[in-house]
Amino acid sequence: MVKIAEEWLNSCAGCEIAILNIGDVLVDLLPSLEFVHIPVLIDHKYYGQVGERKNLDIPEAVVGIVSGGVRNSEHLEVLEKMRERCQILIALGTCATNGGIPALGNMDTLEDIQEFLFRGSPSTEPGPNPDHENYHVPKCFDRVSALDEHVKVDISLPGCPPHPDWITAAVLALLDGKTDIKLPERSVCDTCPTIRERKKGLGDLKRVLTTPEFDYSKPVNEMRCLLEQGFMCLGPVTRAGCSGMTGAAPRCIATRMPCRGCYGPISKDSLPIMDYIGALASVGYDTTRMPDRRGYLSRFNGAHGVLKKLG
Ligand code: SF4
Ligand code: SF4
Ligand code: SF4
Repeated sequence: MVKIAEEWLNSCAGCEIAILNIGDVLVDLLPSLEFVHIPVLIDHKYYGQVGERKNLDIPEAVVGIVSGGVRNSEHLEVLEKMRERCQILIALGTCATNGGIPALGNMDTLEDIQEFLFRGSPSTEPGPNPDHENYHVPKCFDRVSALDEHVKVDISLPGCPPHPDWITAAVLALLDGKTDIKLPERSVCDTCPTIRERKKGLGDLKRVLTTPEFDYSKPVNEMRCLLEQGFMCLGPVTRAGCSGMTGAAPRCIATRMPCRGCYGPISKDSLPIMDYIGALASVGYDTTRMPDRRGYLSRFNGAHGVLKKLG
């Protein structure tokens, strides 16, 4: 029986849905697993059931799974306790591995964000910032960070959300005593069946909502590469894996939509912005005409100092 603790920090719960999406295999695995802490499913108070403890506590576990990045002091405290209590820590989802969508906020300062949220938004009655001193509201940090910026992470499973196949593979490997679990370091393009003509593109860059030129009655492997059609498909700079181990086309491409980069960079050392500008130039597009380049190319990848306020 392997004890598992699960936590969600700056998270939307989509990663927890991905755990449940394991489906029948999860039912088969359950006799080998004991969830000792999983707030999304089981009520467990950090300070004891009636608040009798002085310090936050989480039961000991062999495997700790954490979704979401770190935005405030409570996230950090919970993460550090998970690290202390769990032998193996899994960062689940791109928020946990790379900051995810919330790290787009790193393009602004906390002061700018609070000014807009509490006083600047047209639909908000102006008021002060939360009073974390007197009302125990967790203190917001000035940026969103990934888990490995604070604690040692043993296994990273990116994806927004990760495909259930990878969660299953990680759990099965751990049950088998293995901890060296990594997604392959290759791009979404490497797993994409579309036709690449290696010719220059078809004019201007297109808005993502424009319909690709394609006969929808045909299979996706008869569609011309979306980047070559002028869509800003981030397949060249995004890690493969979103269709799990099914061998199917990448999830967005299968629905004729460009990849938006939700699996994060291909490897820790890659430079997606530079690499993508090169990919666009190779099919003949003028990269200076690309709107909101930084935000678009780092939409899921703003932690680790990638996004910050300029000027
Ligand atoms: S990675 Fe995606 S699904 Fe998971 S918590 Fe973040 S936003 Fe939600
Ligand atoms: S750029 Fe997009 S459509 Fe083209 S091969 Fe890569 S993933 Fe497929
Ligand atoms: S195609 Fe890209 S954005 Fe879509 S699910 Fe796959 S990695 Fe994520």
